[in-house]
Amino acid sequence: MRIEIVPYLKDNYGYLVVCEKTNVCAIVDTGEAAPILAAVAKHGLSPSVIWSTHHHPDHTAANEDVAKALKITEITAHTSDRGRVPGQTRELRDGETFSFGSFAVRALHVPGHTMGAVAYFVSDGDERAVFTGDTLFVAGCGRLFEGTPEDMFNSMRELAELPGDTRVYCGHEYTEANLRFAANVEPDNAAVSAAIARAKTKRAGGAPTVPSTIAEELATNPFMRAKNAVELGQRRSRKDTFK
Ligand SMILES: [Zn+2]
Repeated sequence: MRIEIVPYLKDNYGYLVVCEKTNVCAIVDTGEAAPILAAVAKHGLSPSVIWSTHHHPDHTAANEDVAKALKITEITAHTSDRGRVPGQTRELRDGETFSFGSFAVRALHVPGHTMGAVAYFVSDGDERAVFTGDTLFVAGCGRLFEGTPEDMFNSMRELAELPGDTRVYCGHEYTEANLRFAANVEPDNAAVSAAIARAKTKRAGGAPTVPSTIAEELATNPFMRAKNAVELGQRRSRKDTFK
């Protein structure tokens, strides 16, 4: 499994997920066409599908332009996002599995940030990755625009059950701000201090902080570490105004 990170807009990440055994490629999220098309051309790839994580325009605005330019005929999103994800051709249900090249893919319905959020869990032998959109960020979670703290808590639990070595690829580079908040919530968490040092080094060199892993998120992420939905909700409200 090869994953190309495509930064676009101010701090978004799209991804090209390549199965090197079969030469197929999927695009995760398309808020802006030019950077995606440039990355596809640079790496000589032939994507055949767009996997949309959720309906927000910074993740889907270029779906139709990218599909047209690359002759892509399949765009997946959650069944409840029908009508909100441009160009959607396939409606995914929670837990639905499908194969793509040599990958096994499972669509996890993870409401909270939006009600139709999907995380794509991709495995190939002992390699695993999950594309979490704006639900799970490195050291954070998305704002609760549509769902409740209970929705987000349950989504965090579902993601927490993935194997610890699963690499986490999220929708934005928010890591340093998220870790500042994590350190405020848990000042004595040594894993958070270590993560801050790693993130600083990466960002100073202009590198993305993605991927992390599910194990790292379990050790550092104040939303994945919340004991219950009430605690998650309190932390989310504090984070909304945290500077
Ligand atoms: Zn979003």
